[in-house]
Amino acid sequence: MRTSSSPIPRSDSSPADGAAAALIARAEAAYLGLALGDALGATVEFMTPREIRAAYADQGGLHREICGGGWLKLRPGHVTDDTTMALALGEAILGEDGRVVPLACARAFDGWMRAKPVDIGNTVRRNLVNYRRTGSPQAPESTHDAGNGAAMRILPVALATCGADDDTVRAAIRAQAHVTHNNAVSDAACEFIVFALQDALRGTTLRALHRQRIRPLLAAYPEFYFLRRRCENPSGWVVETMQAVFQALLVNHDFEATLIDVVNRGGDADTTGAIAGMLAGALYGLEALPGRWLAALDPGINRACREQARQLTELRRNK
Ligand code: MG
Ligand code: MG
Repeated sequence: MRTSSSPIPRSDSSPADGAAAALIARAEAAYLGLALGDALGATVEFMTPREIRAAYADQGGLHREICGGGWLKLRPGHVTDDTTMALALGEAILGEDGRVVPLACARAFDGWMRAKPVDIGNTVRRNLVNYRRTGSPQAPESTHDAGNGAAMRILPVALATCGADDDTVRAAIRAQAHVTHNNAVSDAACEFIVFALQDALRGTTLRALHRQRIRPLLAAYPEFYFLRRRCENPSGWVVETMQAVFQALLVNHDFEATLIDVVNRGGDADTTGAIAGMLAGALYGLEALPGRWLAALDPGINRACREQARQLTELRRNK
């Protein structure tokens, strides 16, 4: 079964053309996966698994459709800060010809905040207010800023630095993350996500991802260890967010099941959905994205995600 490396290259195209098309398709799947996970999870954000089971008892106890609502009263198909901050970051990177420039990221996030987004995390708000006051695009280092706000929006960095050397990738990760989250545990999660995404964009398997990216993260940062119990009701602490994402990724073997699993754990469900969605999208490809979810996603968001995925990937390839 062909799982993810679509589309098939045309017979008159070169192998390089085919590889490039496959990379762009996976990048689009990752971006759409982020938006789909955000939109699906927002409906049950801050609910407990027990509350979700009760609310969706007539659907087998599972929330499984993109339908809006939730505490934000979202319109069906709309997304939250996870996706809109990623799009703002992507614009900033494209505006700098593919470079991740701290001041450009800070300006983009500040502009995003001025546009009155539907929601905004406390750490993001506090450190963007600090940027306005000081002009510094780097938040003060803080042991308290281990929220998931830098990790949830980091996909454009993975696309813009795919194929660069590791030091360049790490510098880009910190440049965007430290605008609002200057914290070692947040950095570890961001680094995992970016390198895992880049592996997946190049066609790695879930098993290889586990061995080559998840296990080394757990060895270096044992707080991310997740096997003792089922991770439910994950908070905005990036450790709990990633534990839920890891479990959902590793016990499911397709895009839809992974996302339904992770958002039905409740808690910060739009963000676990967003992160699991970008990783599962990159792993399983465009063909794995459920058509009914894509049809439900806001057309403007759908278009913006696809365009930015393509632009960031092509910009990188032309370097
Ligand atoms: Mg959100
Ligand atoms: Mg959230």
